[in-house]
Amino acid sequence: MSKEYALETRCVHTGELEDPQGSPHTPIYNSTTFAFKNTADLLDVVEGRRAGNLYTRYGLNPTIVSLETKLATLEGAEAALVFSSGMAAESALFLAHGREGVVCIGDAYGGTLELIADQLPLLGIPTHFLLGDELDQLESLLASGARMVFFETPSNPTLEIFDIVAMAEHAHRHGALLVVDNTFASPVNQQPLALGADLVVHSATKYLGGHSDITAGALMGNKTLLDPIWGWRKNLGQMPAPETAALLARSLRTLSVRVRQQNAGAMAVAQAMAAHPRIKQVLYPGLKSFPGHALASGQMSGFGGMLTIEVEGDGAAATTMVDRLQLFAIAPSLGGVESLVTQPVTTTHHGLTPEDRARRGISDAMIRLSVGLEDCQDLITDLELALQ
Ligand code: PLP
Repeated sequence: MSKEYALETRCVHTGELEDPQGSPHTPIYNSTTFAFKNTADLLDVVEGRRAGNLYTRYGLNPTIVSLETKLATLEGAEAALVFSSGMAAESALFLAHGREGVVCIGDAYGGTLELIADQLPLLGIPTHFLLGDELDQLESLLASGARMVFFETPSNPTLEIFDIVAMAEHAHRHGALLVVDNTFASPVNQQPLALGADLVVHSATKYLGGHSDITAGALMGNKTLLDPIWGWRKNLGQMPAPETAALLARSLRTLSVRVRQQNAGAMAVAQAMAAHPRIKQVLYPGLKSFPGHALASGQMSGFGGMLTIEVEGDGAAATTMVDRLQLFAIAPSLGGVESLVTQPVTTTHHGLTPEDRARRGISDAMIRLSVGLEDCQDLITDLELALQ
């Protein structure tokens, strides 16, 4: 399918196999392995003379290949690799391309922080963290040999926005790669590769899956960068089952319509909360009052379904509000059709010291909202009742 088609059209049609039985979408090929007419045929695939199905863990399975074609087109990438989780994708990424050093910028998902801070150094990989007000140190880290810059934008949970174009230029001046975790934005709202990033990573468990019923991950970029990652995925056994791949492809067909509706819902919720007397601040890139609004307006085409509110009072006041909510389920995830709520202090950033949270601008009274597809007035009423 031509790249000229709009994202909505590509979400539906790209990658779908022509099925001899007439199925309008790629069927689930559960097979772990694929048979050949003769040994010469098998060797053609094994020795790379012909593309073909071979073994599902390698990704050489029609359901997986079809999904990866669709994942690639969403980010305008040459190719994509699917994984059994977002963390699986990140692990393979760092092992393949981050061995000379990784610089993680800004806040990030707790599992990502743990992998970079605790596990990569066990393998001798130098890792560094820079918060948004420490970017002047990036130059010396890159000059001393770090070869990968990694960040989320918007970041979790303060929705901080980083300049993808500027960071890509900076990384490339030193021969380093820029990798953007595009989970919060989704490809509907932000296209990091077009802005100069080398690779994009997703927890497909979130917006790409969109229904809180699959765990998966994805990496998108040029084939030359994905090829070395392919070997790590194969031998670490990080392939999702074909059933999961088919569910993810099913979800991607509706990605655009879901995310656009979630953008609208989050904006309405953000505006209502910003006007509420019991709310101290609202962090949402779509609000003009948000510090990263101008940058977000330049590099995002929508502001996403995630926002963080801070209630007047302490952590206990925030917990009381969270516990009163009826429509928002208390759950440590995001991006699904159902609205979810968490307090960063009890979930994603529970493991940090109070000083470290304060340093990152995370207070105990903060509440992260993932806006789903419910009627936004119902959601606002739920929040207002909980605040009473
Ligand atoms: N990146 C972000 C921004 C996340 O929020 C998460 C999980 O919450 C991950 C990566 C890891 O993804 P997974 O849970 O699919 O391994």
